[in-house]
Amino acid sequence: TQPGVIVVGGGFAGASCARALKRLDRDLAVTLIEPEAAYLACPFSNAVIAGLRGIEAQAFRYDKFGRYDQFGDIALIRKRAVAVDAERRRVRLEDGTDIGYTRLVLAPGVDLRFDALPGYDEASAATMPHAWKAGAQTLLLRDQLAAMPDGGIVILAAPANPFRCPPGPYERASLIAHYLKASKPRSKLIILDAKDAFSKQRLFEAAWQELYPGLIEWVPLSSGGRVTEVDPATRTLVTEFGNHKADVANVIPPQRAGAIAQSAGVADQTGWCPIDPVTFESRLQPAIHVIGDAAIGGAMPKSAFSANAQAKACAAAVAALVRERPLAQPKLINTCYSLVAPGYGISIAGVYQPRDGLLAEVEGAGGTSPLEAPLSVRELEAAYAQDWFRTITSEVFG
Ligand code: FAD
Repeated sequence: TQPGVIVVGGGFAGASCARALKRLDRDLAVTLIEPEAAYLACPFSNAVIAGLRGIEAQAFRYDKFGRYDQFGDIALIRKRAVAVDAERRRVRLEDGTDIGYTRLVLAPGVDLRFDALPGYDEASAATMPHAWKAGAQTLLLRDQLAAMPDGGIVILAAPANPFRCPPGPYERASLIAHYLKASKPRSKLIILDAKDAFSKQRLFEAAWQELYPGLIEWVPLSSGGRVTEVDPATRTLVTEFGNHKADVANVIPPQRAGAIAQSAGVADQTGWCPIDPVTFESRLQPAIHVIGDAAIGGAMPKSAFSANAQAKACAAAVAALVRERPLAQPKLINTCYSLVAPGYGISIAGVYQPRDGLLAEVEGAGGTSPLEAPLSVRELEAAYAQDWFRTITSEVFG
C-alpha cells in the first residue's frame, strides 16, 4: 500500500508540515486533521486587543487544502483527533472512525493549564481572560479594556518558562500601555511575573521609559510577582507578598502540549514532548513526530516562526525516513518581532542546530535589535514585522 503521513493540527506547524511534505514528495499520501474551518493567528493579536486592528485580519481559511493545488493534493479532514494508538499506528477521530499511518506528525499547539493556578479554571477565563489563544478571548480582553474607566488598574499575570511566545506578554503590556496613554491616561498597568528576567527585557524597559513613563510597573518573581491564586469574583490576584485588585485582569496561566499529545503518550511529566532534534521524532513513541509549541527539544522558543522552521525540517526527515533515504542535519532559524507601539518594532533572532541530542543555539549567530537606535530603525523593524506576517501566512495558508 501507499505510505501515508497524517498531520494532526493545522496551525503554523502542522499546515506548514503538510505542505512541505507534498512539496518534497508529491506521491506521498498526506492527510491533515484540523477541526476548525479557519485558523485564528496569535501573532499581531496583541494589536487587536489594543484596538489597532480587526480580528478578521487574524483569520485564515483552509480553502486551499483538501484540493489539488501547486503542492499536490492534501486530504483535509475537518474533525478533531481524540486518541492515538501508537502500537497499531492509528488515529481515532471524534466521530469514532480511525485511520492508519506510516508516520504521524502531531502539531496540536498548547493547552492552557486550568489545574495549575488555584482559582483559575475555564470558567474564570470568562472574567479574567488569558487571550493566549486568538479568538473570543482576544475580543473579551479588548472589550474589557474599552469598558474600563479612566484611572483603572490593569494587571497582566505572566507565567514561568517555558510557554508560548516568550516576548508576547511584554508586547501585550506595551500595546495596552499605548491604548491607556491615548484613551485612559490616569490608568496603570502592573505586570505580575513568575520570572526574574524576560525576552528582549532591556529593549522593552528602555522603550517603556521613553514611551510610557510611570505607566507600566513590572513586578518580578523576587519582588513577589508570582501569582499563587486568583479570585475571579473580586478580580483579585494573590501573590506571596500580598493581594492585588484589578479592574481588568489578564491571566496567562502555565501551559502544556495539546491534549492529543498526552493521549498519544508523547508528553513527559513536564507536559511537553521531548523530541530528537534531527527528525523531531518523539523520544517516547516510535513513528510519531512532534513539532511547534507542543515540542520541547532545547533552546528554541515557542513561536510561529519556530513552528514553521521545525515543520520544514521535520517534513524533510519524514520524507527521507519513509523512502529510506539518508537524513540531513537541519539548521533552524527563529526571529520574533514585537511591537512596542505602532511603528515601533524590536526583534530577537537565533539559529539552532542539533547538539548533544538537543536543539542548541549556534553561538554568535543571533541577537537582538540594538539598544541605542534612532526611531527610523524601530520604524523599519515594525514594517519588517508586518512583512513577516504577510509572508508566513501566505506561505502556510495562502
Ligand atoms: P497552534 O498555532 O496553536 O496550532 C495548533 C492547531 O492544532 C490548531 O489549529 C488547533 O485547532 C489544532 N488542534 C489541536 N488539537 C487538535 C486535535 N486533537 N485534532 C486536530 N487538530 C487539533 N509567534 C511568532 O513567531 N511571532 C509573533 O509575533 C507571535 N506573537 C504572538 C502573540 C501572542 C499573543 C501569542 C499568544 C502567541 C504569539 N506567537 C508569535 C506564538 C505563536 O502563535 C505560536 O508559537 C504558534 O501558533 C505555534 O504554532 P503551532 O502550530 O504549534 O500551534
